[in-house]
Amino acid sequence: MKIAVLPGDGIGTEIVAEAVKVLKALDLKFELETAPVGGAAYEAAGHPLPESTLSLAKSADAILFGAVGDWKYDKLDRPLRPEQAILGLRKALGLFANFRPAICYEQLTHASSLKPELVAGLDILIIRELTGDIYFGQPRGRRTAADGHFPGAEEAFDTMRYSRPEIERIARVAFEAARKRSKRVTSVDKANVLETFQLWKDVVTEVHQDYPDVALDHMYVDNAAMQLVKAPKAFDVIVTGNMFGDILSDEASMLTGSIGMLPSASLNDKKQGLYEPSHGSAPDIAGKGVANPLATILSAAMMLRFSLGQAEAADRIEAAVKKVLAQGLRTPDIYSEGTTKVGTVQMGDAVVNALR
Ligand code: NAD
Repeated sequence: MKIAVLPGDGIGTEIVAEAVKVLKALDLKFELETAPVGGAAYEAAGHPLPESTLSLAKSADAILFGAVGDWKYDKLDRPLRPEQAILGLRKALGLFANFRPAICYEQLTHASSLKPELVAGLDILIIRELTGDIYFGQPRGRRTAADGHFPGAEEAFDTMRYSRPEIERIARVAFEAARKRSKRVTSVDKANVLETFQLWKDVVTEVHQDYPDVALDHMYVDNAAMQLVKAPKAFDVIVTGNMFGDILSDEASMLTGSIGMLPSASLNDKKQGLYEPSHGSAPDIAGKGVANPLATILSAAMMLRFSLGQAEAADRIEAAVKKVLAQGLRTPDIYSEGTTKVGTVQMGDAVVNALR
């Protein structure tokens, strides 16, 4: 099992070190190879995703990714910015299915901005299509408007597009995932306004015929955004496009109280995957030893389950995380009165001890 370890920038190096420590504490054999990505790679090689990093990623069974980005790179040309590395990896590896679970741990119910009874026991899974939609659709650009409300004015435009096979494959991923959970899928669209999402709705409905054991409903994205804060536990698996998924998964992640707790996985059709915390590089706390490593540790658990066929080891890590929370250990982002504040390394050590 070969794992490409790409720590990246900011807190990326700190949190990935803890996840690697946890992986090494398992009785499994891995080949771990580290390479720079993002701003670190730009500094080292003049590009956020150097050829050597990309070929390592391609040759690995899975990628454990920290985070990239720093405000100091905001003035670089867009292709050289750290965040381009993630887009490059998604594209090169065909990582079209993004899994973002939003789980509210019993001990952290009070960290949510919603009432505890709304989030206690929350366990939903957002599946976001990752390689299509308005983020990648061509043509896009700036031009002088030939028509519209202000002909002759400067305008910018993007193209929202999805093809039938793109929708089919993500729908299948969602129905398969739902089969392993409570067998319910909500497909989120904007079919009342957008042609792209009328096709989305039609295709998801067709694919559903192959999964009669799974219940499907459709919801407009504006309503879904509302329902996520009104009654989040009414959802189980949500499947949606790239842009809606981007927004809804961040909204869902905050329901759980801390972005420092939430893992994610991006998979291709060969089950090769990129595993990373849902948060960014947090430059505001980088180097202070206070970042929460649990999202990255839980991402490593997802990696074991989805790409490396080690479901039992994944269960062990998840149980160890629950155990350290039950012991009252908290990094500052999830700290509350009566619990014990710890740093990044202590939290990683505690998970390793709980594994044993
Ligand atoms: P962020 O997620 O990095 O930080 C948002 C807030 O959450 C900050 O206050 C931060 O301190 C806190 N936070 C994040 N992770 C934490 C953790 N593990 N433990 C404790 N606190 C944590 O988002 P941002 O500030 O908007 O972006 C910072 C940089 O990260 C930007 O350059 C952005 O482009 C980049 N970014 C990268 C990714 C990625 O690598 N996948 C994702 C999002 C943002």
